[in-house]
Amino acid sequence: FNVLIGGGSGFIGKELVKHLRMKHNINSILVSRSSGEKRITWNDLERRGLPENCIAVVNLSGENILNPLKRFSEDFKEEVRRSRIDTTKKLADAIVKAEKKPQVFVTMSGVAYYPPDENKVYDEDNKCEEYDFLSKLTKDWEAASNLPDSVSVRQVTVRSGVVLGRNGGMIDNIRLPFKMGLGGVIGSGKQWLPWIHLSDIAGIFDHAIQNDNVSGILNGVAPEATTYAQFVKAYAKAMHKPAFFPTPAFAMNTIFGPERAKVILEGQNVMPKRTLESGFKFEYPTIEKAVDEIVNIYIP
Ligand code: NDP
Repeated sequence: FNVLIGGGSGFIGKELVKHLRMKHNINSILVSRSSGEKRITWNDLERRGLPENCIAVVNLSGENILNPLKRFSEDFKEEVRRSRIDTTKKLADAIVKAEKKPQVFVTMSGVAYYPPDENKVYDEDNKCEEYDFLSKLTKDWEAASNLPDSVSVRQVTVRSGVVLGRNGGMIDNIRLPFKMGLGGVIGSGKQWLPWIHLSDIAGIFDHAIQNDNVSGILNGVAPEATTYAQFVKAYAKAMHKPAFFPTPAFAMNTIFGPERAKVILEGQNVMPKRTLESGFKFEYPTIEKAVDEIVNIYIP
């Protein structure tokens, strides 16, 4: 059996490929912009459709929003949207056209769906209006995955928080300053940081693929609400380094532009209610356990 993973070459995709192989001996085929072994390109997908024996289709494609080398211009925003929405649509189209359907279609979205708020606690049942570029992005991204009612393929969408793991994502951006003893909070530090360990986000995708009773939205966040300051304290402690050097909000706004600096400067308190109800067990439920694994290779 094969699982087809759009963007499977990335930070989260590589972890999911490893997870599926090691836990279930399931083979992954990637959909990528470049061809290679165990890969098809997006053009191949449009021309030839889903590969044989495809039991699940996943999308993890997306241009990195927090790429500090890219200005948040209209062109870049369009690329951010296209890389998520068009790829999701291409996979949905391939499922609609396939004679032999996969069992499940699992797609990615983000907690930017929920408006940042210091007091509110969100779960999957909260219906939110779009309020900025990122929330519109999540709405359109989720809508792109909708299959017509006539297609009976189970669907799951994971609204992910900031993914913490080695070799990618946010930790890659902050490791060096912390190692040099120059780390610290960003902005006020009081903002919520909806986070999840890399192994758990891959685990939620796996859980969604394996379990027939799982469908709809699952929040991909750890069950313990954490502020940015609490994360910094835990990370600096695990690194045995001080963390006295704050990055003020204006510096983030200058580097990233205020519209996307919001991802770090403002946060949402998001609970994985449906994820827990569906029977998923977090391997890294607390920030201390997560950063310990990331810094020290946690041995249970
Ligand atoms: P990566 O930055 O590692 O990128 C994933 C893959 O997307 C890449 O390997 C690449 O595949 C493909 N890709 C990148 N840019 C483009 C582009 N311009 N057009 C088409 N495809 C592109 O992402 P992550 O693994 O960190 O995240 C996966 C998804 O989850 C993304 O959509 C991301 O927005 C979302 N997400 C990530 C979070 C995080 O903290 N990391 C948090 C919440 C959501 P290839 O080169 O093979 O084409």
